[in-house]
Amino acid sequence: MFKERIHNFNAGPAAIPLPVLKKAQDEFLNYDGTGMSVMEMSHRSKPFEAILARAIDGVKTTLGVPDDYAILFIQGGASMQFSMVPMNLNIPGKKIDIINTGAWTAKSIKEAKKVGDVNIAATTESENFMRLPKQEELNLTPDAAYVHMCANNTIFGTEYSTLPDTKGVPLVSDMSSNIASREIDVSKHALIFAGAQKNLGPSGVTLVIIRKDMAERADKNLPTMLQYRTYIENNSLYNTPPTFGIYMLALTMEHIKELGGLKAIEVRNIAKAKTLYDAIDNSNGFYRSPVNKADRSRMNVNYRIFKGDSPSEDLEKQFIKEAEAAGFAGLKGHRSVGGLRASIYNAVEQNSITELVKFMQDFARKNG
Ligand SMILES: *Cc1c(COP(=O)(O)O)cnc(C)c1O
Repeated sequence: MFKERIHNFNAGPAAIPLPVLKKAQDEFLNYDGTGMSVMEMSHRSKPFEAILARAIDGVKTTLGVPDDYAILFIQGGASMQFSMVPMNLNIPGKKIDIINTGAWTAKSIKEAKKVGDVNIAATTESENFMRLPKQEELNLTPDAAYVHMCANNTIFGTEYSTLPDTKGVPLVSDMSSNIASREIDVSKHALIFAGAQKNLGPSGVTLVIIRKDMAERADKNLPTMLQYRTYIENNSLYNTPPTFGIYMLALTMEHIKELGGLKAIEVRNIAKAKTLYDAIDNSNGFYRSPVNKADRSRMNVNYRIFKGDSPSEDLEKQFIKEAEAAGFAGLKGHRSVGGLRASIYNAVEQNSITELVKFMQDFARKNG
């Protein structure tokens, strides 16, 4: 039992900025004098329309979304985008190029194969996905329908620092776990999608940013709810959208703006990641990051505890147990990878990382 809020390193759903939670709490019972909660109002009411407009404007101005793109809110999670993207963007007779950097792209490959002809442009599977393929390793199809990538692999702790060059082929990026954590050039993408529950708010809403012309590829006989066109034509209001999630996303974008926008957020995130990676690298081999240095994620920091020359699952179990008791949540690595993982999204404050590092140093002293 904790009386205070703890240090939250959950991978997703994950920490939400405290000022956002407090604002939502303030407005919870009576939103803006409407006498009701956001959850209790019609999605076609004036107050909700204004909330939706704030969410769209927040994304547009914070991420710098050009005018020829639409900003959509869709349900079904990032995982549904693994299907919607190929259903809408595939061109019969052309290839879908996918860069396989681990679990999330593997799922997108599985779904894309049901729709079209997939070329795995590169994979680092033989190296356990502990690095990202380099540009010269990409076997891209010159006239592919699109190229699919994952900007930040939440599970393996890898993150692109520069975009692959697709030589003019439309680029689709799964940014679920690093959206709004760094500056990006939206115009280099044809489509970006991100489940909200890592950096944008609660689960249940997925942000899709799509260059409008891309939506015109889709067969009009696709199920209505699976066409991007439907969401564009109806401003994400074809049916009832996840209203509370959109509200929380609007608050989160406004919070980012108050902090100085993506530039300021990125500076914070660089410093946070450096604090943690430095602690790992300077632990005399007690903690080790298995991820290729150049590809290390600023959002998901994977590491292992070593006893002598090999990782010790016993020490890792002990670490997680003691950390939880001390108020550090979510440090267990993904079940497919093992080890430890600290997810340090936008909402995780520098102070939480400083405290974690102190705990890690103390644990190393006692068990090293
Ligand atoms: C979490 C995550 C997903 C899956 O999101 P859901 O909303 O659970 O479908 C997909 N891709 C990446 C990179 C993720 O981090």
